[in-house]
Amino acid sequence: MRYDAVVVGSGPAGATSARRLSEGGLKVLVLERKKLPRDKLCAGCLSARISDYLPKGWESEVLNRIRGGVLGFSGREFVEKEKGEGIAYIVDRRSFDNFLTSKSLESGAELWEECELEGFQREGSGYRVQTSRGVVHADFVVGADGFHSKTAKRLGFKKKKFFRSVELVAEGNLVDRVVIDTGVVRRGYAWIFPKGDRVSVGVASTGDENLRKVLDGYMAEHGYLRVKPISPLKGWHIPFAERPEDLHLGRDRVLLVGDAANMVDPLLGEGIYYGVVGGHLLAESVLEVPSEALERYKERVFSEILPELVYAGRIAKVGYRFQRIAFRMGRGVSLERFMELLKGNTSYKRLYLKGWLEFVKSAVGLTG
Ligand SMILES: Cc1cc2nc3c(=O)[nH]c(=O)nc-3n(C[C@H](O)[C@H](O)[C@H](O)COP(=O)(O)OP(=O)(O)OC[C@H]3O[C@@H](n4cnc5c(N)ncnc54)[C@H](O)[C@@H]3O)c2cc1C
Repeated sequence: MRYDAVVVGSGPAGATSARRLSEGGLKVLVLERKKLPRDKLCAGCLSARISDYLPKGWESEVLNRIRGGVLGFSGREFVEKEKGEGIAYIVDRRSFDNFLTSKSLESGAELWEECELEGFQREGSGYRVQTSRGVVHADFVVGADGFHSKTAKRLGFKKKKFFRSVELVAEGNLVDRVVIDTGVVRRGYAWIFPKGDRVSVGVASTGDENLRKVLDGYMAEHGYLRVKPISPLKGWHIPFAERPEDLHLGRDRVLLVGDAANMVDPLLGEGIYYGVVGGHLLAESVLEVPSEALERYKERVFSEILPELVYAGRIAKVGYRFQRIAFRMGRGVSLERFMELLKGNTSYKRLYLKGWLEFVKSAVGLTG
């Protein structure tokens, strides 16, 4: 069987790539190794700026509309800010990813569930793709197969930068606020996000602490919300990019997107937004001039995604090193500005440049 593109993985990055490629008139096959709907360990928080990139009807997937944020230090001191309108949305990844995939099928893509990519070889100008259900032929292979991407490994890419993270679901109700705590773990943060009428509690870090222990201590002593675990704790990795060379975008006519490409911000580990935007950029590039797809894709990602990741990385370097100062900055205008970023009204670059003065003021306040 012959396809214009085989998309490996039906997460947000793969489902979006498949939908946009199909809408552009290409014959697309999606390979998904799990049976759908499938679970994905994730807090499911979408910054509001994603809305322009989602297919019609996405609002029905929203469990919680986030209108405010609580920035904490060590689970003991807190600063709270409220916004009238939504700054973020919480979705259940099992249902949300399934919704995105169903939209790609409505656009004409074909789905092979419980089917794995096994390998691919060059064949003329395209590829011979081996799957657990047999061989197909395609002009393009899109690797949207997540953190452990077989597609990326086949191209020789290795993951170097990532958060380790753990998460569980607990009793507790936050309705329309998210809690983010600094001062809990050395190079990262802890969170409590609503998940319907429950909460997701987790820790992400690039350091080497025992995250299970950190999370136990965090839950036991939290001064804002008492939580009682319901689900067992699970762990997964979140890759990120903070420099051009950290983005693994592909080779020849094999293009990578989402976690497979490390398209995640180094500050919070937000990957859904960048994976979805990446899917749009990838499809535009393939549809525009197929023979120059990778070059055009790189140009687009470098101009529209990379600057955000670079400046988020600079904020992360300072913010995670000086967490007490970062918390004090949150009491000023930083938290307000961050909410504007989630809505798409400002960028990490502006946040970083404006933040320096605040940083100095807060640092002086600490020592003075
Ligand atoms: C604890 C935790 C909390 C997080 N919270 C948030 C959050 O609140 N907000 C946010 O934006 N991001 C969050 N993230 C990050 C986010 O989950 C990822 O960045 C996002 O899922 C990336 O999407 P993707 O489509 O690239 O990959 P994935 O969602 O991982 O999808 C990859 C798909 O590929 C399939 N696959 C893999 N290998 C193969 C193969 N060989 N053949 C066929 N199919 C294959 C998998 O089954 C899977 O369905 C969190 C991550 C973790 C671990």
